[in-house]
Amino acid sequence: MSRRSKHRHAGGPVPAGTSGPRPLVAIVGRPNVGKSTLFNRLAGEPLAIVEDRPGVTRDRHYADTLILGREVVLIDTGGFDPHSDDPMQADREAVQLLRRSGKPVVYVANKADSNRAAWESTSHYTLGLDGLIPISALHGRGLGDMEQALFDVLPEPTEHEAFDLDIPRVALVGRPNAGKSSLVNRLTGEQRQLVDDRPGTTVDAVDTYYEDGETRFVLIDTAGIRRKRAVDDVGVEAMSIFQAIRAMERSHVVVLVIDAHAGAAEQDAKIAGLAVDRGRALVVALNKSDLVDRDTLAKSMDRTREILAFCPWAPLITISAKTGKGTKTLIGRIGDAAAEHTKRVTTSDINKFFEEVLAKHPPPTMHGRETRLYYVTQAEVRPPTFVVVTNEPEGVHFSYQRYVTNQIRERFGFRGTPIRIRYRPKKKADPDER
Ligand code: GDP
Repeated sequence: MSRRSKHRHAGGPVPAGTSGPRPLVAIVGRPNVGKSTLFNRLAGEPLAIVEDRPGVTRDRHYADTLILGREVVLIDTGGFDPHSDDPMQADREAVQLLRRSGKPVVYVANKADSNRAAWESTSHYTLGLDGLIPISALHGRGLGDMEQALFDVLPEPTEHEAFDLDIPRVALVGRPNAGKSSLVNRLTGEQRQLVDDRPGTTVDAVDTYYEDGETRFVLIDTAGIRRKRAVDDVGVEAMSIFQAIRAMERSHVVVLVIDAHAGAAEQDAKIAGLAVDRGRALVVALNKSDLVDRDTLAKSMDRTREILAFCPWAPLITISAKTGKGTKTLIGRIGDAAAEHTKRVTTSDINKFFEEVLAKHPPPTMHGRETRLYYVTQAEVRPPTFVVVTNEPEGVHFSYQRYVTNQIRERFGFRGTPIRIRYRPKKKADPDER
């Protein structure tokens, strides 16, 4: 078996809240050491893109993958920008940065294929690292040892068992300065001091329980993690993506905060895309509405809709974290999205409806063979996932799949949540007809 096939992703993205957050594994290092090659090795083949996202560059910097069977989110940081031009000094800086992070680190020396003696005499002794693993990302050498070492430092899955599935967890994400912290403070009604710049300290996200009448949720605050040095080294944009992924992994509902004054940008589409890929519910809040006039606000909304055209089901509202305007509506939308995210349609309701859909517009034949869709069930929530049993799983044309999805939304709503529809072949034991 080739390494590639071994590392193939085993099934779709993990649904929120079923197995808890996946650990993040970040590949860091100075430029040109082979981070992308290593990333591609570990991530395997890119997943088939199920949703088209016009206008969004889908860079391959994040992948849901497996390390010896454990699910992780792999990140190619691409961006450690050393202060020094001297390679060895740059490595020293990186090692210092990593030691301060307080995170488990696996050190690997790449390109160990050519001159083993050379790296042993330099990297190992100069950097003073025990257990430096020689690898060749290009030729696959040493990757098994590296994976074992990674596996050994991954947090135990049991640590996540406290993940409370009843109360929706809400992550506020967005670009720097969009107003995430201000919004958290506005919603929780207190000025919390979470910023801690002391070197060596790890400030983890602090979760806040929110309750207002019927509405209950846990706010996951990542805006509080702001270590300046780390931000300088990795880059502001990359850092905001890390924080977003980290928060999203632990959430059910994602609130994407966008600065109405600055306007939506491709980075916002990327973050929204990561939420959709993870099957999270999504609400978009255009913040700082107090700073712009009505016309500008309307334009900013149009622009946001355009950029987020791949998720038209996500509610878009305008708010001001400063004045509090719109925040009540936001809370309502969060509650609605959380409810839709866990909504179940009964098998009889969905099939009755499905019959109408098929009668109105049957699936086109494929290579002369009739495509038959026998019945549909909702297999999962968070996000709602439907399974359509068919004679030709490969034969349901993309445009027809889209039609089915749209029809389901039109009839059952699911506002604020992605929905998934899988087509699978009929098994022997399945009933013939609905
Ligand atoms: P974060 O980086 O997304 O957490 O953004 P912050 O909450 O730190 O806000 C960035 C800046 O925008 C701060 O100076 C805030 O005072 C300001 N800000 C945040 N929300 C609003 C708003 O609704 N209106 C106005 N006028 N300023 C805001």
